[in-house]
Amino acid sequence: MDNLDLVIRSRRVVMENAVFPAAIGVKDGRIACLAQPEYPLAAREEVDFGDLMLFPGLIDPHVHFKDPGPNTSRENWESGTRQAAAGGVTTVLEMPLSIPLTVDKASFDAKMARAEKLSLVDFALWGGMNKLATGHYQELNALGAVAFKVFLSTDPDSPRLGDYDFIQALREVAALGGLVGVHAENAEIVDSLVASLEKAGRRDGIAHKESRPAVAEVEAVQRTLLFGLETGCRIHICHLSTAAAGPVMRFYRQQGADFTVETCPSYLILDQRDLARCGSRAKCNPPLREPENREALWHLLLAGEIDILGSDHSPYWDQERDKSLWQAPPGLSGIDLMFPLLLDEGLNHRGVKPEVLGQILSRNAARRFGLYPRKGCIRPGADADLVVVDPDQEWVWSWRHSLGNSQEKNTPYEGRQIKGKVLATFVRGTKVYDGEKNQILAEPGQGKFIRPA
Ligand SMILES: [Zn+2]
Repeated sequence: MDNLDLVIRSRRVVMENAVFPAAIGVKDGRIACLAQPEYPLAAREEVDFGDLMLFPGLIDPHVHFKDPGPNTSRENWESGTRQAAAGGVTTVLEMPLSIPLTVDKASFDAKMARAEKLSLVDFALWGGMNKLATGHYQELNALGAVAFKVFLSTDPDSPRLGDYDFIQALREVAALGGLVGVHAENAEIVDSLVASLEKAGRRDGIAHKESRPAVAEVEAVQRTLLFGLETGCRIHICHLSTAAAGPVMRFYRQQGADFTVETCPSYLILDQRDLARCGSRAKCNPPLREPENREALWHLLLAGEIDILGSDHSPYWDQERDKSLWQAPPGLSGIDLMFPLLLDEGLNHRGVKPEVLGQILSRNAARRFGLYPRKGCIRPGADADLVVVDPDQEWVWSWRHSLGNSQEKNTPYEGRQIKGKVLATFVRGTKVYDGEKNQILAEPGQGKFIRPA
């Protein structure tokens, strides 16, 4: 094959089920061919990464850039995707919690305009499922919404559906062949506990965990899977934090429910000791839990019962984090840390195979959200979205590394020793991030909208 734009070689290319030495030929942004590493391929440019590992670009199914909105100086499509590129994430699936909420054609178009102008990496857009989105699912689906997000917990921005309306909405989306992502926490249990703990004067970090107990999450997972089975709607459980949901998941899988489960690096790496230490700076919903629960989540992940990782990236200014426990906004940033943390804790400390990392960080999301095989794999015909990592390089995370706007100084990860580093990120064959210099090479607007197949 000749007239290639680029040839990338590595001794360790992470394919879907194994690691091979290979030469990857790139033409017009796609992988044109795979060959033995020494095979002579003619190209305008060649780069040999030697023993460094080459992964398919990460797909982060769960990010909050909140752009458009009133706080785009804090985070926007450009700053958010700078951090994505730095973390080896080549496709982001962005949540509907912008202002306006992504609930109809006008708000979808408004977000699309911002993303097309500013995004450095490829992107897909979630639509909302709530009172405002009612009657708009077909419209959003036709526009290319990748999935619909529903909150069973109380979210001030996303007016909650009652059980009957939830079932009706699931039926509508099922008829479209769509996918529904669920924030699974029981609103009544959580809201009542928050009120009573706040009234009791609790302000310590552990009170946050106590206000959102496992039973609230397990109940909501159970209800969701039951309704999903009843309506035939495809379900994605977002950010599972409690391994106590495992038996419920197993039961509904046996019944034939069609669902996937996501967890976040924070639930695999941090636990309630970080919540005790960092208070509102480690506040996320659902909360960080016991160390034993974290271990049990790893078991579910490695058993294939959790399929997908998402960052739930949600940055704030330090002064917002510094509010009291109950007033501080929930959510942790970290789209840039997801891959390094998984290389460190997964590959290096727990012996997770590279191809398994590739599955949970890229392929499985691509499959579930209809982006596969254009995304999520290294094979001829796929987009040349590639990440080069050094799994052995040790470094220390500091807010100074962040390419975001909020530059949060005291996250739970500040000062953390990490083994495994992203050295380069390619989107459709173009290098967008240089990890040696921690430098972005892409221009705003280079990212493309990806419509699910
Ligand atoms: Zn989220």
